[in-house]
Amino acid sequence: MTDTEGDATIALRTGVAVGELFAGRYEVEELVGRGGMGSVYRVRDREVGEIVALKLLAADAATTESIDRFRREVRLARRVTHRNAARTYDLGEHEGWRFLTMEYVDGESLRAHLARARPSASRAVDFARQIAEGLAAAHEAGVVHRDLKPANVLLERSGRVVITDFGIARALRSGDATLQTGRILGTPAYMAPEQIAGTGVGPAADIYSLGLMLYEMLTGELPFVADSVMATALARLHQTLPDLRTKDTIPVGMVELLYGCLEREPDERLTQADELARGLAELSQRLGPDLGTLGMPTARAGAVTRTTGRPSTGTPTPPSGRALAVLPFRFRGPSSDAYIAETLSDELIDVLSTMRGLRVSGSGATARFVDSSDRDPRTLGSQLGVDVIVDGTVQLAGERVRISARLLDVQSGFQLWSDRYEGALADVFDLQDKMGRRIAEALRLELEQLTHRGEAPAEAIELYMRARQLARIWQYKGPSGSAAVYERCLALAPGFKPALAGYAIATLRAWFSPDDIDERDWEQVANVAVRAAIDGAPELAETHLAAGMQAVQHGEYRRAAESLRHALRIAPTYAAAHDYIGRLQLEAGRPSQGIAHLELAFDLDPALIWMAADIARHLALHGDYAGCEAQLARLTPAHGQHAVVPTTMLEMRIGAWRRDLDRVRRARNKMKVAAPDMSSPLFFADTLLDPAPDPQQMRERLLATLGAARNPRFYALVAQFGAESAAFHGFDELALEMLGLAARSVLVDLDWLENCPLLASLRSRPEYPELHLLVRRRAEAIWTAPEVARQLRRGD
Ligand code: ADP
Ligand code: MG
Repeated sequence: MTDTEGDATIALRTGVAVGELFAGRYEVEELVGRGGMGSVYRVRDREVGEIVALKLLAADAATTESIDRFRREVRLARRVTHRNAARTYDLGEHEGWRFLTMEYVDGESLRAHLARARPSASRAVDFARQIAEGLAAAHEAGVVHRDLKPANVLLERSGRVVITDFGIARALRSGDATLQTGRILGTPAYMAPEQIAGTGVGPAADIYSLGLMLYEMLTGELPFVADSVMATALARLHQTLPDLRTKDTIPVGMVELLYGCLEREPDERLTQADELARGLAELSQRLGPDLGTLGMPTARAGAVTRTTGRPSTGTPTPPSGRALAVLPFRFRGPSSDAYIAETLSDELIDVLSTMRGLRVSGSGATARFVDSSDRDPRTLGSQLGVDVIVDGTVQLAGERVRISARLLDVQSGFQLWSDRYEGALADVFDLQDKMGRRIAEALRLELEQLTHRGEAPAEAIELYMRARQLARIWQYKGPSGSAAVYERCLALAPGFKPALAGYAIATLRAWFSPDDIDERDWEQVANVAVRAAIDGAPELAETHLAAGMQAVQHGEYRRAAESLRHALRIAPTYAAAHDYIGRLQLEAGRPSQGIAHLELAFDLDPALIWMAADIARHLALHGDYAGCEAQLARLTPAHGQHAVVPTTMLEMRIGAWRRDLDRVRRARNKMKVAAPDMSSPLFFADTLLDPAPDPQQMRERLLATLGAARNPRFYALVAQFGAESAAFHGFDELALEMLGLAARSVLVDLDWLENCPLLASLRSRPEYPELHLLVRRRAEAIWTAPEVARQLRRGD
């Protein structure tokens, strides 16, 4: 990659080049189009390994205000989740470019399609119906498109029609567009009269635009023809529509609907996109045989026969998914701060919308319940057409914010889950983000169990809960450990998915933890358990965390990263997966991404406090001891006995790195109390504290410990300790031997290899470069595309 990123280059740049890695994350594969607002590329998102569309926006003076507005709009757009609406993912800024990523749709735009051919009437009606369904979902989520036009409608080869660019038009404008003052982006050719007049834009404007497109598809032209696009648009303000009945390409039954869409006054127009969709569906069914010539599938019955009373988006709930509505959180405090509650519910909707298998009603649907005192879940549930409801309260008390949230089952009215959160008001935005995510993650786990509860008898569920509890306190082995309890659960309910996944994770932890309470071959047990989880519960994020952990233990890091990404695609809020991939990134040459994942993991699940030890180690390796202490201070005795082991181990190592034997001694004494059975760290400490060790004896003991190690990752870790203790005493030959053993097994800990102060003298040894290269390639191969990895393997 020849990326000369000097300032001059940036200023002259008009886009990105194919092959370039944009923003350190997106591999640019192809320019797919240019529009009024910038260019669109097909890119591969390295972070999640998926193809997405990257839209670069013309970099005009981006004020904070315009960026804020943009963020708000994108956030709104992200709520639209429907098969006929392109998903909006992320918003970012890189080198002065604002960009956003969205679902990539493989096909052509309706504009390109119309330039080539006029669709048959049945196709036109089908296209319009799908657009109407996408619009209905958007409108329900409170999102108005405002720039609906053939260029923003993509036709996928499968026949799916997808609307893109929700909310983007408004995001790029200051206020509503007017002909007089605003800069109109895109073309006004499809704008509603009120949009051109600048008198306020609502859902009805989108319906008008859809009407124009349908008209054009059916007749090959726009209804008002004048010399220029602008004159055509203006004509809509003043002229009356031509008589549609005289147009022989407009099916008779269509005339009414079209008139409904193209009413000049928004008040008189059809305003319900789902009604329109229904009308179009009925029409294409009624007229299907006469219209159908191209054999495109016409409207499916599913869209028409909806359960009555459901303000549905036109898409029935997917059979495996659940429908959930988040009610606006109730607020107690000064009314000037009431927005906190509102934003919190919004944030929660945002995050929940990213989860697979969950249909979340947008706030548009629930807004009317803000002040409703009757929040009986049964009534609300049937009004909203959902299975579960999230309800909550935000309370301000002095400088503290207290949030309580609960999950209610619509059918029974029962409370399924509830929790309370507290934080400082000072950083309220941060708090909203964090709480939204945290509640979302807690809800995810709850919903997962709820979904699969039917798979197991009550007794099995009880065992499952106990096994999970044991896992949380790191009790994996032995007859009353997590793994054994999972086994009892699965004996009663062999198909219970959450247990299949949880068991796989427990066996992998057992395999790694070295103290042999029992004689089971945990590697084998784990292999069987992971296989069973992949076969029996592939839809669970936990299963893919297990697969990732297994790959890591075998040193197959690239496969591990893929599994972890898979887990995060299923459940973007899955804290343990963020934690795991963050640690891997931190070790293997991606520290800033790693820290971000670890911090996010902690936000999502504050029980994952070990991340502080990982970050502390990283900072200490880079000489930032103050930062390291600050991280360690995040771990308090309140985090329980199991937090003592990793921190104490780290204390020992930092003591060694800094040649502070008092610290080593203190840590050793703590470890002796906390974990008297953990022989390797104690051996490590004793070796450090030995004033005159014998290198031959040390070597023998190290080799014996390595020989007994059954887990490749654990083996590498012991060799690392060995290298440190040998180097500490100046036994460089032994240290090099240990380094070699680590490097030739599965060591991927580049951060340590390159920065551990004890290894300083080894780095100038002739043997070092080869070992370093071995580890570096192993680390790079995780994150780089196979071609690049191959190049790396060929030479440095
Ligand atoms: P406009 O909508 O004004 O044409 P855009 O910048 O939105 O401009 O899009 C330019 C072109 O890029 C579109 O016409 C379309 O062909 C393509 N395109 C836009 N979004 C996507 C997407 N999500 N997936 C695939 N192609 C897209
Ligand atoms: Mg567009």
